[in-house]
Amino acid sequence: MTSPDPDRVAHAEAVRLLLGSDCPVFAPGHVWLAGAGPGDRGHLTLHALCGLIQADVIVYDALVDAGVLDLAPVHAVREFAGKRGGRPSIHQTDITGRLIALARQGRRVLRLKGGDPYVFGRGAEEAVALAEAGVPYRVIPGLTSGLAGLAAAGIPATVRGINQAIVLATGHSAEGEADAIASLDWAALARLDQPIVLYMATRTLDEIAGRLMRAGMPHDMPAAAIAQAASQHQQLRVATLSTLAASLREVPIPTPALIVIGRIVTMRDVLAELAGTLG
Ligand code: SAH
Repeated sequence: MTSPDPDRVAHAEAVRLLLGSDCPVFAPGHVWLAGAGPGDRGHLTLHALCGLIQADVIVYDALVDAGVLDLAPVHAVREFAGKRGGRPSIHQTDITGRLIALARQGRRVLRLKGGDPYVFGRGAEEAVALAEAGVPYRVIPGLTSGLAGLAAAGIPATVRGINQAIVLATGHSAEGEADAIASLDWAALARLDQPIVLYMATRTLDEIAGRLMRAGMPHDMPAAAIAQAASQHQQLRVATLSTLAASLREVPIPTPALIVIGRIVTMRDVLAELAGTLG
């Protein structure tokens, strides 16, 4: 039997002391399906940190900030599994196969995804595959970009007197973008008259905005794009439902980016103005 690595023990002990019994024990052969939150590593939860310090292998996707991986002990193996700008993505079955194989080798496998693992991140598919394979797993929730990213850009997700609901939707699906747009009732969303936050929709925004406007959503409805939300590189573009897509075509913003459509966008200016008057 090999003795435990002193570096791992010291590191893990330090965080466990900090968190007390709130730090769950990561058993060998288990997978933790964890969200890293959006943007910088400050958006990690303490449970995700518990996973990082105990993991043998971290299988991470493209949205995970490099600074997050630095929190893991040096000997933890880091494996990239995700899409990277234009290159073909790794097949989902390859990722789940890898997670299962690593767990069966008795590793502690941290599957780390951007935002929340169960929001548009195919985390549900991974959980199903693990369950079917009989691999024990735990889900560690994360801050989803569609809510935390809005707050980071100064846009409240709900404002009394403006909205009673908020819609999180995708402009993309496993079957392709056209399919994602066709299978959602955009006219119903327009009639709902509540803000809509769109993930993966910068390329399909023209089509989506057209559908919403044809269903009666005002052309001058405030709309914004938030790129690299909750990071130090965050960029915000504010326009209207009818002008945002063209604005993004003329002057593109970096990825990843969210789109938010609704009157909550104007609250950003209200708050900024108040901050100004307060000095
Ligand atoms: N599970 C993730 C979403 C994965 S889908 C979550 O809960 O946030 C990927 C999409 O999420 C991106 O195309 C983008 O629309 C959005 N996204 C994720 N992180 C983001 C960030 N930091 N800034 C802006 N958009 C982000």
